[in-house]
Order: sequence, then C-alpha cells, then structure tokens
Amino acid sequence: MSEIYLYERQLNKQSDYNVWMGFPNCNSFSLSSLGFMWLYKSLDEEPNIKVERICTDTKITEINPKDVDAICFSFSFDMDFIGIFTILDKYNIPLKSKDRENAFPLIFAGGPVITANPEPYKEFFDFLIIGDGDKCNLEVIKLCRENRGKSKDELLEILTLQEGIYVPNISKKVNKCHYDLSECVYTPIISEESFFPNTFIIEVSRGCYNRCGFCVASYLNLPVRFVDYETIISKIDLGLKYTNKIALLGALISAHPRFSDICDYIYNRIQNGEKIEMSVSSLRADAITPKVIKTLSAAGQKHTTIAIEAASERLRKVVNKNLTENQIFDAVKIAKDSGLKGIKIYSMIGLPTETQEDIDEFIRLAKDLKIKNKGFDITFSFSTFVPKPHTPFQWCGKEPVKSLEQKQNYLKKELHKLGMKPKFSSAKWDYYQAVLSRGDSSLSDYLIDVYKQGAKLGAYKSAAKKYNIDTDKFAEEDLVINQELPWDFIALNPGKEFLKNEYIRLLNI
Ligand code: SF4
Repeated sequence: MSEIYLYERQLNKQSDYNVWMGFPNCNSFSLSSLGFMWLYKSLDEEPNIKVERICTDTKITEINPKDVDAICFSFSFDMDFIGIFTILDKYNIPLKSKDRENAFPLIFAGGPVITANPEPYKEFFDFLIIGDGDKCNLEVIKLCRENRGKSKDELLEILTLQEGIYVPNISKKVNKCHYDLSECVYTPIISEESFFPNTFIIEVSRGCYNRCGFCVASYLNLPVRFVDYETIISKIDLGLKYTNKIALLGALISAHPRFSDICDYIYNRIQNGEKIEMSVSSLRADAITPKVIKTLSAAGQKHTTIAIEAASERLRKVVNKNLTENQIFDAVKIAKDSGLKGIKIYSMIGLPTETQEDIDEFIRLAKDLKIKNKGFDITFSFSTFVPKPHTPFQWCGKEPVKSLEQKQNYLKKELHKLGMKPKFSSAKWDYYQAVLSRGDSSLSDYLIDVYKQGAKLGAYKSAAKKYNIDTDKFAEEDLVINQELPWDFIALNPGKEFLKNEYIRLLNI
C-alpha cells in the first residue's frame, strides 16, 4: 500500500498511552476525511501517545481493547452510529457506557452530528466533543493521560470543566470549542487507497455567512473563518511536491477574500507547464466567473456544480439563498463558454412553504436553461429537506415520504421529456435522517436494535415498532416554537432567539 506521510513520524515510540482513532466506515473513506486524518496526525506527532486508525474494515488487531486507554470516534453523518457499533462489537466492547467498567477504554466522539445534537447517542459515549476538534481532541487526550490513575467518574468530573466537552448526565450547558484556522488543515497522508486517490485536500475556509434557513454547516460554524492566502499557497506548494491532484475544501470556498488569487496561482503554474488537477467543493452560482472556470478547466475539470436549492425565486428567498435567476443563467453560460462540458445543479424538494408551483418552476427553469445552452450537459440533482438542529428550520416538520416520492416521480417524468436524467436522494432514507437529527435519548435501544437487525430500511421500521418509537413525531411534526428542544443546552452563537426571529421572518416572505 502506498502512503506518503507529509509529516515527520516518530516510529518505535516508547509511549505509555494507547489511543484508537475510530472511523465509522472503511479505510478508503477515512483517508479522504480531512478532519479525521488531521486529528490522527496531531496525536501521531505526540511523543507520549501511541495512536492507531481503526476502521470498519481494519483487520482485527491482536491488541486487547482493555489495553487501549481511549477510543475517539469521528461522527460526521447521521448513520455513522452503525459503523461505530460495528467497531465496538468487533472488539467485544459493550455499546452502552454504563455497561463498560473501568477496565474498558474511555470512549468518546466528535463531529458535526454530535455538535448539532448528541442526545440520541449520549448513552454510548463517556463524553462528547462539541464544536471544532482540531485542538480540543489532543488537549482532551493529554488531560486523560495526565489523570489516568483516576476512576472513570473522577476523570469525567474533570472533563466537564473543559470548554466544548459534554459529559452526559453531568454537563448542564456546553459552549462549543472554536478553532481560529491559524493553521491550515490538510490531508497529512497522501494515499492511492484513498476514496480520492493520491489527492491532497486542503481546507481554505470554515463555515458560510449566507445562513440558508436549513444549513447546519453554516450555523454550526459561525463565525466564518478563512485561512490566510500565504498559508494556503505554502500548503498547496507542499502538497504539489508529492502529487499533482489537489482539492480545495470549504462550505463556500468562493467566499474566500482571495479566492481569485488562489485560482491565478494555480492557473499560472499550469501555464508554466505543470500538470495539475484541481477540484473544488460546490460553488455558489454568483461565484462562477470566467477566471474560476478557466482555472478549473485548465486543471482538468469537465463539470462544475452549483447549488440553487429551489427553482422559484420566492422559495429561494424563503430559504435565504437570495440567488437571482439571472445569476443562475450567467453561471451556466460562463461554464459553457469557458469550455466545460456540463454543470450539475443541486436542489431540494420538500422545503417549508413549497407548493406545486415551486415544483413546476423546475420544469420551466430546466426548459429555459436547455434552450439557451444547447449541447451543454445540465444535470439536476435533488435531495429532500431534512430539518436540522440549530437552524431556523429546526422547527419545520419534514414532508411525508409519500408526497415527496410523488414529487420525485413527477420531476423525473417531466425532466425526462426534456432529455434530462435527474438524480434523487432516497426520500425514505432522508426520513430516517430527520428522525435521528431531531431525536432524543429515548432512541438509544432503538438504535441498537436497528444495528442488530442489519441496519437496512426495514430494520428502522421494525425496531420502531418493537420499541414503540413514534418516528413521525421526530421527523414530521412541526415543533412548537417556545418548547424546550433536546439540543438547547448547546450554546451556539447566534442563539435560539436569533433562530426564532429568522424562522418567523423567512416563513413570512
Ligand atoms: S450558501 Fe451553501 S454553505 Fe452557505 S449557508 Fe447556504 S447552503 Fe449552506
């Protein structure tokens, strides 16, 4: 296996503290997970800590888990609990924290799902990291190491005093850890085994100031932070010493104040004869400029992606997207004129206040785009709206699966008539995402049962029956604006008052 480490490894460490970094999916995905790999690096660089990566497909190691001091799991997607249970089970570690006596490692997790709402998972972990793990993870491990003679209960009492640490049943209110991006986060190992083979991924910004009403990536990561230009360039230089593939990452990278200069830098290197392949995460339509597309095209991209969220201008205003139709048309035209082969347009259905007219607007928009951009490959891709904690739309219930599927079938049929092949997320899986996203601690046994039954769709349904869980209540009910929510104890900025006002403002547009 070819892996290039971009940092100085300390081999044969005489360490006295063993940590497993658990990734709830296969090794190939872990290698492309920027946050996970960065935390792994920070532990690997510590002289007194021995760290191993454990994924769902890692061959069982000889190590007795009771010789491991701590296991830290990455939790980025709602369904990641399945991968976590798989790993714990493989090493015969009880799933619930209360069933693990002192001899078992401390088990904790962090990531966007945990930061948004840890309540459905709180019985499985000894503690949880809320917010950015970049520095917090290492500090916490060091603290655990310094106090390892203490009992688990004593240690957890100490951890409650740490910023960003949530100890279930002890912590009352938790402020998130916040990282200032003074260092640039990048994939510290380049590997051909990675889901993005031999690709150097670099984070240029965190968060997005646009605050779309549904967007947890925006609200969890305010205020928005940008890595400074010089640091980005020095890291691009580092990555390009080892590979010619780079990927820039960020919720809204085009908002970086020097995004245009970053594009120039890459473009000039390509013009000087280097073969560089560059990709970027989705761009806002109003950021598609000839310079950006010229760079992407020179860097081997055939397509670009924009997220419009809704086809009607009214609904885009409701979700706070504030993108005009002209901006969408300009973006597609620039992409076409600058030599790309096509564009992918991401959108959503089932958004609050959506009507049939809003759905029909997709057909009209698609028709107009086709007419004006003959021969250009335009693909629509639709997910369904899932209410997320800490967003203005956290109070909005999800549209029932049946009516979402009717809308999907309608769009499929109508867009097929235009020669388009739209893509859709599964409304049924999105429903269970909503259950988990707005769930609470009553779901613990339900989640274990889902896992034990094989975690297919049917398992989610039959486990709900067995444990008498009203999944519709979590997914579909509109929540009462003044009621206490399971995740209210997590203090974010802006807080709940801001969200309430925003919810009222947006739904009244
Ligand atoms: S523009 Fe994109 S990243 Fe920013 S808030 Fe909206 S959906 Fe989220």
